[in-house]
Amino acid sequence: MTHFGEIDFFVTKFKISRKKAKEILITYGDFDEAIDEFEFQINNRITVDNLPSDKSTSINPSPMNEELKEEIKVIDNESKEEGPKILPKPYTVHKSSAAMITRWVEVPIRELVDFCKYQMIHAKVDPKEFICPICRCDYYNDMLTLSDKEIDELDTKMIKGEISIDVVMLSKCKKHFYHKDCVEPMAKDTASVKCAICGVIYGTLYGDMPAGVMEIRHIPVPCEGYEKYRSIEIIYTIPSGSKDGKRHSGTQRIAYLPDNEEGKEILELLKIAFSRRLLFTVGTSITTGVNDVVVWNGIHHKTSLRGGAMSHGYPDPTYFKRVKEELAAKGIHSK
Ligand SMILES: [Zn+2]
Ligand SMILES: [Zn+2]
Repeated sequence: MTHFGEIDFFVTKFKISRKKAKEILITYGDFDEAIDEFEFQINNRITVDNLPSDKSTSINPSPMNEELKEEIKVIDNESKEEGPKILPKPYTVHKSSAAMITRWVEVPIRELVDFCKYQMIHAKVDPKEFICPICRCDYYNDMLTLSDKEIDELDTKMIKGEISIDVVMLSKCKKHFYHKDCVEPMAKDTASVKCAICGVIYGTLYGDMPAGVMEIRHIPVPCEGYEKYRSIEIIYTIPSGSKDGKRHSGTQRIAYLPDNEEGKEILELLKIAFSRRLLFTVGTSITTGVNDVVVWNGIHHKTSLRGGAMSHGYPDPTYFKRVKEELAAKGIHSK
């Protein structure tokens, strides 16, 4: 599952052991994701050099980057007369399942209010939009009506750990904030969290497709418009079965891709989607209205070699772009 080249890349780039690199890659399952997340962690940790001393004991790097501990500089400013004006973010202790997946960062009130006010002035964002996208409540109660003094008082208490920091920023969504308690349930029983605003997926999204077989053949008949190439024929077989005591009827579908570079690329993405149970689901058939049948799950396939878009066939100039977008929306990206 983990390639040696990928491990080497991590060892060289981040100066970590092979064992650690392998661990990271296994944790994320996806090479690009692992780089993103790992870089994010490093950036967020080593820029913090003014952490108050009472927080220093709570620095708890996730198992992933214990080796970076030496790189975290802790300077105790409390003994000096003047501390830094804006205190850095404390780390999130990555204990909860959502925090493990998103590597979120806690956002105390001062930082959040400054961000929102900046957006209101420079981007003309309506203050009503600064609410948690899940519960639709203020991030911090009435935070935009508090005086600067009140905000600073609350902020200091948060930094010192006297009151909790309830708002988090997900690691890839630099402008999207949530209540910690609202994100947490999203990660329960699943290996992924999806940002409700931009749809970015953290972790690996798995679907509920029943067991099945994806069979691939190369056939000497071209897709219309791709006469120079053979075609890739994909046969999906999902047998009837039952899940949680509920029966569903299976399906067999045949789909085609031209056997060229782009077709092969999409085939690889479809294989990943299939292995993550994302291509089919159990639902109601749009064509027959029958319940509890295995149906497509939003990733479009060409079920005909010809006839154009109207017949779910080729040619269809925007099909590749669309199917890649549909795959990306489920966390599967082209290399
Ligand atoms: Zn909320
Ligand atoms: Zn987002």
